[in-house]
Amino acid sequence: MIFNKLIVWFMPLVPKFIVKHFSRPYVAGPDLQDAVDTVRELNKQGILATLDVLGESAKEKEESEEAVEDYFRALETIQAEHLDCNISVKPTQLGLLLDKEFCYENLKRIIRKAQSYDNFVRIDMEDSNCTSDVIELFQRLQKEFKNVGIVIQAYLRRSLDDVTELVKTRTNFRICKGIYVEHRDIAYKDYEIINNNFALLLETALKSRCYVGIATHDEKVSWHGLRLVHQLGLSHEEYEFQMLLGVDEQLRRILVDEGHRLRVYVPYGKNWYAYSMRRLKENPRIAFYIIKAIFGFK
Ligand SMILES: Cc1cc2nc3c(=O)[nH]c(=O)nc-3n(C[C@H](O)[C@H](O)[C@H](O)COP(=O)(O)OP(=O)(O)OC[C@H]3O[C@@H](n4cnc5c(N)ncnc54)[C@H](O)[C@@H]3O)c2cc1C
Repeated sequence: MIFNKLIVWFMPLVPKFIVKHFSRPYVAGPDLQDAVDTVRELNKQGILATLDVLGESAKEKEESEEAVEDYFRALETIQAEHLDCNISVKPTQLGLLLDKEFCYENLKRIIRKAQSYDNFVRIDMEDSNCTSDVIELFQRLQKEFKNVGIVIQAYLRRSLDDVTELVKTRTNFRICKGIYVEHRDIAYKDYEIINNNFALLLETALKSRCYVGIATHDEKVSWHGLRLVHQLGLSHEEYEFQMLLGVDEQLRRILVDEGHRLRVYVPYGKNWYAYSMRRLKENPRIAFYIIKAIFGFK
């Protein structure tokens, strides 16, 4: 819808308090306790979680060191509170754009800490400037640790090659469409092609018996997940569905009631702005909400 596209373009001009208001469903809150309360509620409903300490593109090493400490606290709390929850980390928050080795050491510290609690770390995938570096860091870490997984984006033209390579080491994947704005030279732009590529990546990974987090709210894509699970005769322990906090709770419930593992991505922390902007831009009703808020329409 053209109107929605215009609003997305104007979003950076929308006052921060309005962005904060509308992004409330997508973020657990500013503190670890907010995230713990959210995860406990999800766990009660038979839903797993992954915690994300909000933040990206660290400009100083201290920022990344603080993020490592935040993740340590998250892991300690998950353990102490007996939550069914792992963590997701962003490489640029851990210093990828400052110094690759420094990022590697930070990732290693977090993964080692998680290992000591028998927990798992998912490395989120960011924009295409990071893809090769993140895959390379992941492959190094994978040689040392079992409790680490990566994310592959179905919109990238390179992803089939990446998955084909990564299945050789029985990688633990999250596959998603991808959220960053990428050039057509490197990324598919067509909705159907992205969905078909998603299905092809899923098939490649699941056929190789890799564990896959099928991360989508698009029922056409989750159907492909269900089709493959059926055709390959997979047990519920060999894959999971993943969704973002605040998006399509009805689909979430349907999948859980059918007996599938489902994990919700629970972001929290003070650096809510960039994440919230990306989520709001994906919400099909955002134009309506924002116009209503700015002009006070009832
Ligand atoms: C658990 C998880 C982890 C992710 N990790 C990454 C990552 O590491 N790197 C990365 O690039 N991307 C990541 N993403 C984002 C992903 O790439 C997509 O941008 C996002 O999931 C939307 O794609 P979709 O498959 O839901 O399909 P879409 O076609 O975008 O959406 C399907 C339907 O879901 C609804 N919907 C989607 N988003 C919203 C929203 N914000 N508000 C309201 N309704 C909405 C819409 O109604 C739409 O009709 C992750 C997504 C999930 C679920």
